[in-house]
Amino acid sequence: MELESILLPGIRDQRPLIIAGPCSAETEEQVMNTAKELAAKHIQIYRAGIWKPRTKPGGFEGVGTPGLSWLQKVKRETGMYVSTEVATRAHVMEAVNFGIDLLWIGARTSANPFAMQELADALKETGFKGPVLVKNPVNPDLELWIGAMERIYNAGITKIGAIHRGFSSYDKSLYRNLPQWHIPIELKRRLPNLPIIGDPSHIGGKRELIAPLSQQALDLNYDGLIIESHCDPDSAWSDKAQQVTPDVLSFILNTLVVRDTKQTTESLTELRQQIDEIDDSLLTALAKRMRISREIGQYKQEHNMPVLQTSRYDEILDKRSQQALEVGVDPNFMKTVFEAIHEESIRQQIDVLNQ
Ligand code: PEP
Ligand code: MN
Repeated sequence: MELESILLPGIRDQRPLIIAGPCSAETEEQVMNTAKELAAKHIQIYRAGIWKPRTKPGGFEGVGTPGLSWLQKVKRETGMYVSTEVATRAHVMEAVNFGIDLLWIGARTSANPFAMQELADALKETGFKGPVLVKNPVNPDLELWIGAMERIYNAGITKIGAIHRGFSSYDKSLYRNLPQWHIPIELKRRLPNLPIIGDPSHIGGKRELIAPLSQQALDLNYDGLIIESHCDPDSAWSDKAQQVTPDVLSFILNTLVVRDTKQTTESLTELRQQIDEIDDSLLTALAKRMRISREIGQYKQEHNMPVLQTSRYDEILDKRSQQALEVGVDPNFMKTVFEAIHEESIRQQIDVLNQ
């Protein structure tokens, strides 16, 4: 793909490019208040969801078309560029008709090639030239993500960027959506000219994770960040746990360190990201294991069985020490790890008995 810069005229050409605004447009007042506060913090691109994909029916599904005229007003009164998510042909027609400057495609849509083709066709029909930002699909499939962008490119749009918003997982984890950093790293290797924007709000799902995730994205040389910001986050109609006020956003942005892109420590950073990711999965797996241990404790209690069954303990240790050799890890080290895990499991089971 021969891509052009996604920087619109007048946008500061410096990393990171920042897109900020509420998860959803709720009321004209909320849209305008948030926009004015963000503009005062020198944010140049405003985001707000007009049509909201919700997991279950009955929730707030966005204000729809009236919200587009609030975005026009933001543009008029603050001078910011405005952006929103499109998921259907009708959204594209409406958004372009209302002069929305930048469109993004959500994670549920980029996972669906039929929907992507429908959007690409609609964009072509309108003559919209971009920028169009494509979020990673909910499932960790790099080819699907690239395919989604190729469909947009084939519609004659060359101002394309990717948004990394993390990947769904069934297991409880520290994150709302697992970052799986190796996927955007591989994307960058495959398409070196494609700008990548980090979405720490949807990866983390909580305010406290915005700063560390943004820093991680910058350390990987991302081009920009899209961050949810609301004038009154606690009363937001969607994604309230992950939204911050414009003040807090500005504070976070000021703490970020933008490193020299030509630094040679980049591969070290990538390796560290991988270590962090593995530690995250260790943490998640251990938490899950301990939950299951407690269930076993419950079962043993109900069936009057003893907590410690030595034969099972020996079996686990023997099997794992043996497997350690097969995967090239010191069996003594593996034994120490499994002893510690088993000891904690027993403690959890006894804890259940004492409840
Ligand atoms: C959003 O940006 O508000 C959104 C719905 O994101 P995603 O598609 O990443 O879930
Ligand atoms: Mn959101």
